[in-house]
Amino acid sequence: MTPPSDLAMVPFVSVENMMRLVNTIGPRKMMAEMVTYLEADFRRWPDFDKTPRVAAHSEEGVIELMPTSDGEHYGFKYVNGHPANMQRGFQTVTAFGVLARVANGYPVLFTEMTILTALRTAATSALAAKNLAPKGASVMAMIGNGAQCEFQALAMAEVCGITEFRLYDIDPAATEKAAKNLSAQGLKIVKCATGQEAVAGAHIITTCTADKRNATVLTDNMVGAGVHINAIGGDCPGKTELHADILHRADIFVEYPPQTWIEGEIQVLDKDHPITELWQVIDGQIEGRKDDRQITLFDCVGFALEDFSALRYVYEKLEETGHFEKLDLLADPDDPRDLFGMVQRSHQDTH
Ligand code: NAD
Repeated sequence: MTPPSDLAMVPFVSVENMMRLVNTIGPRKMMAEMVTYLEADFRRWPDFDKTPRVAAHSEEGVIELMPTSDGEHYGFKYVNGHPANMQRGFQTVTAFGVLARVANGYPVLFTEMTILTALRTAATSALAAKNLAPKGASVMAMIGNGAQCEFQALAMAEVCGITEFRLYDIDPAATEKAAKNLSAQGLKIVKCATGQEAVAGAHIITTCTADKRNATVLTDNMVGAGVHINAIGGDCPGKTELHADILHRADIFVEYPPQTWIEGEIQVLDKDHPITELWQVIDGQIEGRKDDRQITLFDCVGFALEDFSALRYVYEKLEETGHFEKLDLLADPDDPRDLFGMVQRSHQDTH
């Protein structure tokens, strides 16, 4: 990674600059490029420090810290998940994050990550589908048409060649919003009145709903042979989307098992139930899809390595695009031991 010239001033990517970055590169291209970063990092999975994210749960939602390091850089994300926020006019998920150099501990990037999380989650979904979805998949059902929806659809279109999206949400206004946004991107959209209607003929089913309970967005009879399920919304203890019977028919692929056993769809299964780590499929160590009738399930909860890849991507785009400000984040006296003297001199200067 290219080091920034001024170590004390930390590059900061605001929401405004992140939007500029997305619009400069284009959302589809950006997510496709992020897939290559994710792929590279998933392939060197053993190099990373891994821990389940640190979660502070409340009745309303969860606030989480997601750290990881590859020995050269350290990254973390602060993220919340509050399903009732949307009704109160707030985002369900907001985030920001930091990338730092391990050698001296100095941050090298501070960035908004609400938009970046939507991009990285969609890129991760596309990477999983690229490895697990049936060959020639062209139709995706998208259940849950909230903030993540359009990103998910665009990444699947760009990376997996999906051409038709069948949208369903319990709130028709969400479906209208997503249909309008996605039609403007030139995608074929079918608005559906039920989940059952949405999954008809779909090769990939993405569930991306927000509800703090064990919901049943998909029932067993809705899932036919050969489909790939991309389950995004079940990502906390007591917050799942699929009927348990589906888990017994599917081959299940996960990010980091110690975290997914706590947060994923598999939290309802016995701990000896077979699961496969996605990185081993991406690295070619284990076969993903074996036949046309197999049901594959990516039980996605969101893992720190994906944020690390996204931070690494944004960091490497800084110099090329210039979409950042310099933030006076680090106290950096000329004499490193004279922190107090620096404060005093500043007081004298201002009086
Ligand atoms: P959002 O609140 O903007 O949208 C959620 C949508 O789901 C809403 O439109 C709501 O009406 C709809 N919904 C709720 N219950 C439904 C049901 N039973 N059937 C159909 N639709 C239903 O939230 P978002 O930002 O789009 O996030 C969606 C989910 O994805 C959240 O649960 C969030 O925690 C999760 N998420 C996961 C990851 C990950 O890495 N796995 C990343 C980001 C978000």
